[in-house]
Amino acid sequence: MRKKPNLPARLERCKGMILEDPTAYCGKWLSTFGGKELHLEIGAGKGKFLVETAKENSDIFFVGIEREEGALVIAAEKAIAEDVQNIRFLDVDAVNLPTFFADGELDRIYLNFSDPWPKKKQWKRRLTYRTFLDLYWNALCENGVIFQKTDNMRLFEFSLNEFAAVGYLLKNITFDLHATDLPNIMTEYETRFVEQGMPIYRTEAYKQKTKLI
Ligand code: SAH
Repeated sequence: MRKKPNLPARLERCKGMILEDPTAYCGKWLSTFGGKELHLEIGAGKGKFLVETAKENSDIFFVGIEREEGALVIAAEKAIAEDVQNIRFLDVDAVNLPTFFADGELDRIYLNFSDPWPKKKQWKRRLTYRTFLDLYWNALCENGVIFQKTDNMRLFEFSLNEFAAVGYLLKNITFDLHATDLPNIMTEYETRFVEQGMPIYRTEAYKQKTKLI
């Protein structure tokens, strides 16, 4: 992303929407902000998906994490402009997840169009690499779920295998989300890929250890 000279001033105006000390809320998200469930988007980008999702679900509290400040500030500005109360953003990296969320605190995690990191050497940086899935497992409640969407077939194939290896239960796998009736709110990246006619891959991965049938 290009350097933005007015970024500090814009970030200053987003105080309160971008939380300054995210570790302060660990284990206390819902008691601080209210809501019947806590949902997290990792790599929220410019925030379209999370802001629209939060508007449609006012009884749920949403957290978006995004390590790219230039994108994060746009997401926060969107939430403020639309006066969405049940959302906050964190300028953090997902590797530090356990410092922001206590064990079992999250009901749902969204991974939308995560970086594909195509080279084998880089696979451990993928947000569905097993070390990340392990962090999510601890942070999720019993029956908690990860919703993943991507345009990248190889990342999707890798992710399905990682989910299965760690012990998540996969449901509603599709190789063409837009050809299904599954409810869907589009992200910025998704809009671009769909305009290019690309299929969207999507799955749900549950932290579930019970008998299936
Ligand atoms: N979800 C958005 C953006 C997808 S691009 C959309 O669909 O439009 C992936 C985003 O994830 C980028 O903005 C990148 O900065 C962010 N990201 C990648 N790895 C991350 C990490 N470890 N922690 C936090 N954000 C990350």
